[in-house]
Amino acid sequence: MSGAIFAANWKMHHGPAAARELVRAVLSRTNPREGRLLLFIPPAVSLTAVADEVRGRDDVAVGAQNIHWEPKGAFTGEMSAALAREGGASWVLVGHSERRHKLGETDAESGLKVAAALAAGLAPILCVGETQEERQTGRKEAVVRRQLEAGVGALDGTALAAVTVAYEPVWAIGTGVNATPEDAAAMHRSVREWLSGRLGAPAPNRILYGGSVTPGNAGALLAQPEVQGVLVGGASLTAESWVGIVETASGSVQRSGR
Ligand code: PEP
Repeated sequence: MSGAIFAANWKMHHGPAAARELVRAVLSRTNPREGRLLLFIPPAVSLTAVADEVRGRDDVAVGAQNIHWEPKGAFTGEMSAALAREGGASWVLVGHSERRHKLGETDAESGLKVAAALAAGLAPILCVGETQEERQTGRKEAVVRRQLEAGVGALDGTALAAVTVAYEPVWAIGTGVNATPEDAAAMHRSVREWLSGRLGAPAPNRILYGGSVTPGNAGALLAQPEVQGVLVGGASLTAESWVGIVETASGSVQRSGR
């Protein structure tokens, strides 16, 4: 495991023209850095435009925000893992909290999606995280472990080692309130302990933090050795704030020796 992942989840923003413009602005202001991966996660309609713009930059990849678990069929409005790949994605988010809490995605569905992604050669990022109520009632670790169990618990060791996990506390997403670096690090340790327990060896997986990351707090979050990258929504929507995060936080990662 080396380097850090900077993943930009654009949610339901930026069609192909705006996406091209933003990617060009970001790429013109960032140079490739050893071990650092910049990941753009645009809406499905903009996948091919983004993939086109990042061609030739080995430090940059494209991800889909969601896939269906079936390989093909009568699923109006859905996109299979193979279609996402054809559109230029090599990564995919699974179980983002907005899908779980606003669109009714279940734990079991996230397991099916992770398996479908791996089968099609997409690298899955399983998103886990507790709500405010779950946190206040002392259930945050139990909730995250339940989501891990359902999302990746059935995988064999090789498949499990290929999954990236994003800890995204629901109360921190889009609220302007981030987990403290210490709180994020503690949950990341817990996730890593679970993964290592399943693997029977130190887990090689990268664990990202997401939830109101900004240029002002990214450095402190990434200074924690437990945090191997960030998944960012709102602050990834303009070149200025996204490059601010990538540049500030890359310095932190380097200082921490990763
Ligand atoms: C996200 O969409 O995954 C996210 C963390 O959003 P935000 O950065 O806006 O909190």
